[in-house]
Amino acid sequence: MEHKNTWETYNSKQLKEVDVFAKEYIDFLNNGKTERECIDTIVNEIEKAGYKELNTLIKNKTALKCGDKVYSVWMNKSIVMFRIGEKDMAEGLNILGAHIDSPRLDVKQNPLYEDGGFAYLDTHYYGGVKKYQWVTIPLAIHGVVVKKDGTTIEVNVGENEDDPVFFVSDLLIHLAQEQLEKKASKVIEGEALDIIIGNKPLVIDKKDKKDKKADDDESKENSGKDAVKSGILSILKESYDIEEEDFISAELEVVPAGSAREAGFDRSMILAYGQDDRVCAFSSLKAMLEVEKTKRTACCILVDKEEIGSVGATGMQSKFFENAVAEVMNLTGEYSELNLRRCLSKSCMLSSDVSSAYDPGFASSFDKKNVAYLGGGMVFNKFTGSRGKSGSNDANAEYLAHIRDIFEKEKINFQTAELGKVDLGGGGTIAYILALYGMNVIDSGVAVLNMHAPWEATSKADVYETKRGYVAFLKNADL
Ligand code: MN
Ligand code: MN
Repeated sequence: MEHKNTWETYNSKQLKEVDVFAKEYIDFLNNGKTERECIDTIVNEIEKAGYKELNTLIKNKTALKCGDKVYSVWMNKSIVMFRIGEKDMAEGLNILGAHIDSPRLDVKQNPLYEDGGFAYLDTHYYGGVKKYQWVTIPLAIHGVVVKKDGTTIEVNVGENEDDPVFFVSDLLIHLAQEQLEKKASKVIEGEALDIIIGNKPLVIDKKDKKDKKADDDESKENSGKDAVKSGILSILKESYDIEEEDFISAELEVVPAGSAREAGFDRSMILAYGQDDRVCAFSSLKAMLEVEKTKRTACCILVDKEEIGSVGATGMQSKFFENAVAEVMNLTGEYSELNLRRCLSKSCMLSSDVSSAYDPGFASSFDKKNVAYLGGGMVFNKFTGSRGKSGSNDANAEYLAHIRDIFEKEKINFQTAELGKVDLGGGGTIAYILALYGMNVIDSGVAVLNMHAPWEATSKADVYETKRGYVAFLKNADL
């Protein structure tokens, strides 16, 4: 079965829309390099579109009716949105789900040290990374430091033109003979991913300003052992009012510095950090904002912690989604334990995540007939998992038939795929978790080249086509 190239299906009006959409997507990526930043960006946008915060509605006992828009954020890292449909919620929702966490280096809780005249932050990688890809590239630090009194200090350094950046060093080629003999997984090991954040002893800055006596005192304190570390601490105190011990209650994420870019002479692609899975999060969000009245209630879940197994209070395995559905049903006047269960079991879901794109440079890793192509349209994975489909949600044929029918009627270009060759590895998504309610769930999303690398590539056409697919799903799915 041949797949169409999505670009070839567009007329000139659509080609313009693709570019406009890609520009918005690039902004979204630049504004949201962590899950917290994504939540801020999303809440800003949906509040402008009339979405109301769930807890406020609960407090005011506001009754919800068809057409109302409501959202709930959990711990600043996960969000669920609802647009109430014409039918009772107990008849099921149409759900879009994606994740907003991405692989990165997290700063440890006791991170700051000095060695060989450099100040370092010790990191612990998050999600699946090829560690050797993270050395010698400019890195930025994004996140929060929460002080004991509850004040939150936001940190975002390395993105503006005149911001400093940070980096992990690598051994010069001239001495790398032994290193280059190592397995790629050992070339750079986890504990070697500490970032260099300074090289200047504090005393240099102070010398001119002080009289002789004070200078001597200062020197005693700030030269010699850990003078560079002291210098960094003094900058942190001055710029952010944080002390060394405040790292204990910080969440600082080290990500590639720099903006998302158009790629190729034809500007057909986007090269950016964190497209897994902000590409599906962005297109799901846009579809939610685009749909007008729907028969079934439209829902969109954008969650944290997918890259490490959907664990914790903000991961998909948390009850926050189910609780939010219960609260919303309470406000539509429908809530009962039985209605909640009916609602969840009769729902349809597109569990979206990136799919691996065929890479001609590594052709032998893919089954050419069952892989996604960049530019090939929205991707459906009937199943994911590893080896014999282990850990997978395997969507029902009846559900796939329903989706095919909708997509063909709405002329959405789509392709079906597996991650790669059967025995080579695999991966999971959030699909299996929602499937536990008994609802119909299928893995879908956008093809990505160099998935999990500091810079990942997608096709602008795929991003746009996937949003079209989500709109068609929200309007028409009913099984
Ligand atoms: Mn993903
Ligand atoms: Mn991933």
